[in-house]
Amino acid sequence: MTAQTETRQFQAETRKVLDIVINSLYTERDIFVRELVSNASDALEKFRHISLTEKPEFDAHVPLEINITCDDKEHTLTITDSGIGMTAEELETNLGTIAHSGSGKFAEELAEAAKKDVSLIGQFGVGFYSAFMAAKTVTVQTRSWDGSEGHEWHSDGNGSYTIKPCEGLHRGTKIIIELKDDAEEYSQKFTLERIIKQYSTFIPFPVNVEGNKVNTVEAIWGRSKSEITDEEYTEFYKFIGNAYDEPTMRLHFSADAPLAINALLFVPKDNFETLGMGRMQPGVNLYCQKVLIDQHSENILPEWLRFLKGAVDSEDLPLNISRQSLQDNALVMKLRRVITKRFLKYLDEEAGKDNAKYMEFWKTFGIFLKEGVTSDFEYQKELAKLLRFESSATEDSAMTSLQEYVDRMKEGQEEIYYINGPSRIAIENGPYIEMFKKRDVEILYTLEPIDDFVLSHLGEFDGKKLRSADQADLRLPESTEEEAESTAEASGEQLAEAVQTSLCKWMKEVLGEKVKDVKPSSRLVDSPAMIVNVDGHMTSSMERIMAAQSKMGPDNPMAMASKKDMEINPANPLIKKMADLRAKDQDFAKEVAEQIYDNAMIQAGLLVDHQEMVNRNYRILERMAS
Ligand code: ADP
Ligand code: MG
Repeated sequence: MTAQTETRQFQAETRKVLDIVINSLYTERDIFVRELVSNASDALEKFRHISLTEKPEFDAHVPLEINITCDDKEHTLTITDSGIGMTAEELETNLGTIAHSGSGKFAEELAEAAKKDVSLIGQFGVGFYSAFMAAKTVTVQTRSWDGSEGHEWHSDGNGSYTIKPCEGLHRGTKIIIELKDDAEEYSQKFTLERIIKQYSTFIPFPVNVEGNKVNTVEAIWGRSKSEITDEEYTEFYKFIGNAYDEPTMRLHFSADAPLAINALLFVPKDNFETLGMGRMQPGVNLYCQKVLIDQHSENILPEWLRFLKGAVDSEDLPLNISRQSLQDNALVMKLRRVITKRFLKYLDEEAGKDNAKYMEFWKTFGIFLKEGVTSDFEYQKELAKLLRFESSATEDSAMTSLQEYVDRMKEGQEEIYYINGPSRIAIENGPYIEMFKKRDVEILYTLEPIDDFVLSHLGEFDGKKLRSADQADLRLPESTEEEAESTAEASGEQLAEAVQTSLCKWMKEVLGEKVKDVKPSSRLVDSPAMIVNVDGHMTSSMERIMAAQSKMGPDNPMAMASKKDMEINPANPLIKKMADLRAKDQDFAKEVAEQIYDNAMIQAGLLVDHQEMVNRNYRILERMAS
C-alpha cells in the first residue's frame, strides 16, 4: 500500500448494520446485484440531469451505460457505470457512514425488520452494504464528473476501510467484488443475466452483461395500458419503489390537456409509518421526456400522498429545470393539482367498484387522507368523499361514508352528528348517544384521536354541518308523535320546572368556575348528567389531545380553556333525590354534586383530579356503609 493510503473505521452504527446485512439477509442474496445496479442507474440519472444544466466537459463523450463483467475462475464480479461518480469526500460520507444513523436505534429497527420481512429492508436504504452478503472484499474505484482526482475505496466489511488516490479512471464508478467461496455463482454470466432480467428490466440505460445488452430501455409509463401485463407493472413497481412487496392498487393515466402527462402511481402493501419506521419519504419520481428531473420528488404530490410510489412524466416541463426551482414553479404546481385530483377521483371510483378492497386501503392508508383534510384545504371536497367511519347504523366494525350517512338522514335532520370515544362499546354505553338511540337518529363514531380534528376542519359535507354530540345546543330532529308522547310521559316524572331552575343554579354555585353553566337537559334519557362544549369548534376529544400535548391538567387553568356546560337529567332518580338532599344535608349534597360532575367528566374522556375524586368517593361510600 502506498503512503497515501488512509485507513478508517466504519461508524459503530455502520458496523452493526453491516453485521445484520451479512448475517440475517443471507437467504436473499440476489438482492445485492439489484442494489448495486440500481445505484449505478441512480448515478447515471444524476449525471444525465447535471449535463442538462451544467454542460460538463470532462469525459463528456463517454456513453451512459452500465457494464457488468465476471470471471468465473477468479470469482470476481465487476459493475461499472459512467454516472456522476464520487469525490474523495463523497466516497467517505456515502460509503463510510449511514445517513439514517441519527437515532441510534436504526440498527435495532433494521434487525427487527429483517426478522419480520426482507421486503422492509429496502426502506432502510442499506443498499450498498448488501454487497458484503456475497463479497470477501469490495473495491470501489470512482471519479467524479467534475474531473477531480479519482479514488479507490477498499474493505473486507470487518470494521475498517481504506481510501487512496487512483489514477487513470474515467467518469463514473467501478465496483469490483471478490466473491466469497459459497457465492461463486455470482461470477457466472448466466446467473447475472437472470437477476438483471428479473429485477432491473426498467433501468433506463443499457445494462450489458459481458458485452450483451440484457434489458430493454423503455419507459413503461409511456406505453399504452393494453400492452402492459400485470407482471410488468409489478416489476416496475419493485424497481421504482425499491420495493420487495406487491402493489395493492395502481393508476396509469395520460392526458394531453391542460398539461401533457403520463403518470403511473402505485399504492404499496404496507404503511411503513405505522410499522414504526419513521416518516416515509415521497416515492414518486418526476420525469420530463423520460429524463429523471427529481427523484422521490417532494413537489409533484402533496406531502400526505407520500405513501405513493411511481413516475410522473410531463413533456411540458422545461428539460433544464433545476431541482431548486421546482418548488415554486407554476407548471409543477398545476401538475400536482391535476395528478392529485385524478388520484382522489380514482380512489372514489375504486370504492364504488369494490368496497371491500377500498376498505383494505382505508385501514392501511386512511390516516394519510385524514392528514390531507387537516393540512390541505385545497382537496377537502374530494377527500371528504373518501372518509369512512363506524356509525350507529353499521354493524360491528363496518364503516360508512358521509354520503351514505346523508342518504339515510331522517326528514327534518339538518346536521351530521358524530361522537368520539375509545371504542364502539364505550360510546354506546355513554351518555351522549342516549337521545340518538331513542329517536333513532344515526350518529358517527369517531374512534381515532385525529378524527374530531378532521371533521372539525371539514366543517360540513353536502351543505350539512358536521356536529359533535358533545357540543351544547344540539337540536335533534323532532320526535315523531309516538315519541313525543313517551317524552311527555317521562316528563311527568321530571322535577317541576321551578325546582329544576333552582337546582341548576345551586349546582353552578357548588362547581364554581369548573363549568360555565348547569342546565336541564333535553337530551339525556338514563344518565344523570353530561358535559357539553360551549365552544362550537372544540370537542372533548380534541381538548384531551391538546391537553396531553401541552401537559395541561386539572390543576392547570389552561385545561379549562374551552368552556363547558353540565347538563343534568331532571327525570333521573339521583338528580331528583339531590333536590331533597339539598334541604336536608347541604354538605353531603355538595359532595354528591361534585362527584356527579367528575363522573360526567370521565365519561367525556376528560381529566379530573384523581386524588380528590377518590377521597370524596370514599367519604360517600363510608356514609352509605354506616
Ligand atoms: P441509497 O442508494 O439508498 O442512497 P446506498 O447504500 O445504495 O443507499 O448508497 C449510498 C450512497 O452511495 C448513494 O446515495 C450514493 O450517493 C453513493 N453511491 C453508491 N453507489 C454509487 C455509484 N455507483 N455512483 C455514485 N454514487 C454511488
Ligand atoms: Mg442504493
